[in-house]
Amino acid sequence: MTHESHHIQQQYKETMYNIQESTKVLLPVGFYDPSTKQYTRHVEVAEWTGYTQEALTSPIAKNNYNIGISNVLNIVVQSIGENGEVFRKSNPNSMLPDRFMRQLTNADREVILLQSLAISGEEMRKRACTDKCNHCGGEISYDFDLTEVEVLEWDHSKPPWVEFDLPKQITVGSGNLKLTSGHAKIKLMTGLDAEVLGKKSDKGEFAMLFEMLAQCTEFDGIGKISVDVLKSQPRSFLDFLKRQANLQVGAIPYKKFQCHHCGEETEAKLDLARFLV
Ligand SMILES: [Zn+2]
Repeated sequence: MTHESHHIQQQYKETMYNIQESTKVLLPVGFYDPSTKQYTRHVEVAEWTGYTQEALTSPIAKNNYNIGISNVLNIVVQSIGENGEVFRKSNPNSMLPDRFMRQLTNADREVILLQSLAISGEEMRKRACTDKCNHCGGEISYDFDLTEVEVLEWDHSKPPWVEFDLPKQITVGSGNLKLTSGHAKIKLMTGLDAEVLGKKSDKGEFAMLFEMLAQCTEFDGIGKISVDVLKSQPRSFLDFLKRQANLQVGAIPYKKFQCHHCGEETEAKLDLARFLV
């Protein structure tokens, strides 16, 4: 796969309000229009206000993390389209209609979130972290600065999904209701998918993976299958689907650095939750 990449920006003086700062963001995927096969990749994002913080911690968001994120995005996003031609808010702290951020991919949502934090002052942008070196296990302290985060872009010559032949046919149902398929597509997870799955996020990592695959996979001639039918498939088939679903796009949540104990290069994972408290 070929990918372009860019960095989360720190410059943000392109403001249209008296107090609040905002910045133009280039989305790694963008809004896809299947009729023209074109992507709309520009949004304008404002820094956080008290309203934004409140949106993250509202009672409904407490039960579903991804609804909290949707609320935050609905406040920080100010316009959609290079010159706001798709949508433009009149009041910066009002909520965007739900359909936009629900339609957007998770990769895009995360980049908007990171960008909004990156322009909201040093306290929001940087976190002091400690981690263990992957090689010697020594403890390392470092600052994670969101402006260092690199963003991998989607290949925009393709639609926001991957299509592939299955290693063997999948069959669901029985008798006259039996359906088979030998071809499938997995779409990039959207905000709506995340909200649906967010309600089930107390399950384990594998349970979430199967929920995600059931939510985002469409089998030709069958459509979506339930997570129970999916889980009844052989492990080798599920591993195959998992590999297809491993789509490299969006913020790369790692920081590489040299360990000051052993001198080896090690990496630390960005813990986004730490930036949202
Ligand atoms: Zn080390």
